[in-house]
Amino acid sequence: MATSKTNSNIVIVGCGINGLFAAYTLLKRGYNVTIIDKNKDGLTSKNNAGLLTPSLTATPEIGLKEIIQASTIGYGPIYISPTHILRNLDWFVPTLKHMTGYEEEIIKLGWKSLKLYEQFFKKEKIQADVIHGVAALYSNKGEASKMAKEQNGRFIDEKQISGLGYKNLGGGVMYDKEISINPAKLYDGLKERISEMGAIIILGKEAAINFEKGKITNIDAGQKITADNYLITTGSWTNYMLKPLGYNPHVLPARGLTMLFNTQNSRIISAPSLLEDYGLAVSQHDANTVRVTGFFEMVGLNGRFKQSRKDWILEILKKHIKEYKKLHMFKEGYGFRPCTPDQLPIIGKVPGYSNLFVATGQCRLGVTLAPVTAEIVSDLIEERKSAGIHINHLSPERFTK
Ligand SMILES: Cc1cc2nc3c(=O)[nH]c(=O)nc-3n(C[C@H](O)[C@H](O)[C@H](O)COP(=O)(O)OP(=O)(O)OC[C@H]3O[C@@H](n4cnc5c(N)ncnc54)[C@H](O)[C@@H]3O)c2cc1C
Repeated sequence: MATSKTNSNIVIVGCGINGLFAAYTLLKRGYNVTIIDKNKDGLTSKNNAGLLTPSLTATPEIGLKEIIQASTIGYGPIYISPTHILRNLDWFVPTLKHMTGYEEEIIKLGWKSLKLYEQFFKKEKIQADVIHGVAALYSNKGEASKMAKEQNGRFIDEKQISGLGYKNLGGGVMYDKEISINPAKLYDGLKERISEMGAIIILGKEAAINFEKGKITNIDAGQKITADNYLITTGSWTNYMLKPLGYNPHVLPARGLTMLFNTQNSRIISAPSLLEDYGLAVSQHDANTVRVTGFFEMVGLNGRFKQSRKDWILEILKKHIKEYKKLHMFKEGYGFRPCTPDQLPIIGKVPGYSNLFVATGQCRLGVTLAPVTAEIVSDLIEERKSAGIHINHLSPERFTK
């Protein structure tokens, strides 16, 4: 039976995009929501590529060879620190066992989320620089045409790529139905919206969980806050958050870099794109702002990138952006993707606790999957079944076996 939501209170710890969408969904369903974050502003949920592209979800299979390569070669898009591997064997050993086969389910979740985004943008009128049509670009024309066939995209040739603002690329795939947003504008707009809807937002306070006999008693964030249910959306910090409760969600951070450039009122890129050979995403959000993001580095919660890594990105932009000279960098940022060994999110009740839920682990897709994650976790809180969504493989229980 569904639980009653009348005057039901929920505390959410973690005001990233997943905490915000969960707050939004629960407020719409009639809950009283308090959301807490130790920081005063979004980090990862503002410093990402903002691509909502279910077709581009597949991650290359990670095996021993890939992990060795990524931990010994420091100049590519992926880097894994060898000490990080040794410190986190419980993450890397399951990864080596190829806990894959998730792509189909994740792509389905991605499309469901994209539909929810469309409804959201129609209803809320939040201005987040939504652009329809995202391209994946390759040096190798043959690879582009293979991907276009495999993923039902539209092949684009060198001339069309040039029309989008890029050069020295052999072919690409255009995904017309997928979108790009400005993640910082989405984050700020949604935070403002949930505040208007009545959410209590507490920022700059680190939260800890108080519990007894399989039940959370309150959240301590400078003051003790009690609720009927509690939801943890702490992204890359979730291992630390849940450790005192004896549960390890197996979430490790994969850091990435964001660079923002001013174009001085010149539209130099006409379609958001992924430069697939380098794992770099490039979008022009408006007349002035180009966002470039890159790197998947597993080195812990450390946001310092060497200048040589930034120079690597600039060299690639110089090679592939026709009007590179118009790019003037004005801001840099970093974020931490919350990744699980099987590349699947963790959404559900925390094992052993009757009133504690967790929603994290979306890794490279945290923004894409935020609305559907919010629907799933809200349904679980209400003890309802989410229509048409398989959730068993998302269960937190999978890491207790
Ligand atoms: C470079 C880069 C590019 C990306 N590109 C894309 C993309 O194109 N599309 C896409 O879908 N995804 C993308 N991602 C992934 C996406 O950004 C993340 O998956 C997503 O932002 C995670 O959101 P979250 O709300 O789960 O976690 P976060 O945004 O990390 O939020 C968690 C919050 O919890 C807070 N917190 C932690 N511990 C505590 C505590 N004890 N008390 C209080 N607060 C606490 C933290 O301060 C933080 O604000 C990218 C990521 C990066 C780094």
